[in-house]
Amino acid sequence: MSYGNRKPHFVLVPLFAQGHMIPMIDLARLLALQGVAVSVVTTPRNTARFKAMIDRANAAGLLIRFIEFQFPCTEVGLSEGCENVDLLPSGDLAKTFIAGLSMLREPLLLHLRQQCSKPSCIISDACCPWTSEVARELRVPRLVFHGPSCFFLLCTHNVSKHKSGGHLADEFEPFLVPGFPHKLEVVRAQCLKFFELPGWEKLFAEVAEAESMADGFVINSFRELEAAYIDGYQKALGRKVWAIGPVCLSIKETCDKVTRGNTMNVDENYIRNWLDAKETGSVIYVSFGTMVSHSASHLIEIGLGLEASKRPFIWVIKEKEMWPEVASFLSEGFEERTSSRGLILRGWAPQVLILSHPSVGGFMTHCGWNSTLEAVSVGVPMITWPHFFDQFLNERLVVEVLRVGVALKFNMFIRRVADDAEGLITREDVEKAVTELLDGGAEGEERRKRAKELAEKAKKAMNGGSSCEDLTLMIRHALERAGEASDAQEP
Ligand code: UDP
Repeated sequence: MSYGNRKPHFVLVPLFAQGHMIPMIDLARLLALQGVAVSVVTTPRNTARFKAMIDRANAAGLLIRFIEFQFPCTEVGLSEGCENVDLLPSGDLAKTFIAGLSMLREPLLLHLRQQCSKPSCIISDACCPWTSEVARELRVPRLVFHGPSCFFLLCTHNVSKHKSGGHLADEFEPFLVPGFPHKLEVVRAQCLKFFELPGWEKLFAEVAEAESMADGFVINSFRELEAAYIDGYQKALGRKVWAIGPVCLSIKETCDKVTRGNTMNVDENYIRNWLDAKETGSVIYVSFGTMVSHSASHLIEIGLGLEASKRPFIWVIKEKEMWPEVASFLSEGFEERTSSRGLILRGWAPQVLILSHPSVGGFMTHCGWNSTLEAVSVGVPMITWPHFFDQFLNERLVVEVLRVGVALKFNMFIRRVADDAEGLITREDVEKAVTELLDGGAEGEERRKRAKELAEKAKKAMNGGSSCEDLTLMIRHALERAGEASDAQEP
């Protein structure tokens, strides 16, 4: 698009959590490729994680810059450097972290007021409701960026609006989602909006209020994946919803895939050579995003299940999960026994690079929406083990609707979440699921075929298809709201 004399300027405000920052940085690049100047609000430690990637984008002529603020760690009682959710020593500090983030409102407002011209639009993560005051003060449009699937967004919107299941004494008793495009039974414990939890009422109300004033919603998804839910969500909100993803497909260069989100401890060539030596579709990639932390016993069960499956694997274990029992389990026999077919990556892994290698035939995932879309984008079927938030409903979409995944254990029976659910998953569960996914007879073949077809649709959507159209419409809508529309023209 060309924009006449005034170049549009969009300000992006992410939640500082890798599952939110990574797609926001991808969105920055997509906007910049459309000739928009983009500023991303960040802090020093978050800048460091994306700087190399943004430097390369700048060298390629894209106008993306950081607006960097100090995170008010000491003011809110966090240790120095706790600038991202994955750097918090405990999940109990999440509320403190969110409070710190909201303190960026005044510095951001001041910064934007000092610029010679006001921005065209603010795109804010849904978890940063304070940006609505910034937009109102500056009189600029504000769009909300939602991280999760539209399946989750519509389902939780309808359940929350109708207070469905609220009358049931047991939060694990199934009920039907009202107004959903098809019959869907859920349990309340796995169907909550973000922050719809006891103790979070204030933030929940602020997010709802900020959404009610938003000028539209930007979703990391694509119509061919979720058309019925995107339409349903748009209708339910009565506002514009643009599906502009999968944004991970905007990353073309290997160096960007390698440095996306963080730095890793191992040479990318080592991983590539390791994968090159394996047969097509034979490797199971095991990784659970940035926030899940497994107990030592669960990690050991995963390891023993992978070993029993006799398949090649890449297994990502976070530094915070290297409990003494896990370190001994790995060093006292496991690594040696599986050395010919297992690769353990400690810390950060180049996920998009690994998933796009032809040797990878399956992905054991927690169903974070970014991970799910990254697998969908390259046609890799999944083994699903959701832990919290939107992950339960993402699993339902993957396993029941798209039919490109195998549930490690069907989610209805998971009565507790995340780290404390000791004994939930056994080595037998892991072995069975890996065998079923990588083989699985005729059904396995059909699953792989469906996954490949979805990947083709995703590529088309991002390559001049529906997601490109939605991105253009979204930019135009924002510029119309900003009163800058007359300058925007198709090439
Ligand atoms: N990721 C990665 N390497 C890792 C762990 C995570 O590249 O070792 C990326 C992954 O590709 C995805 C994001 O981090 O883009 C995680 O987001 P997701 O929504 O899947 O899960 P979350 O971390 O928010 O639970």
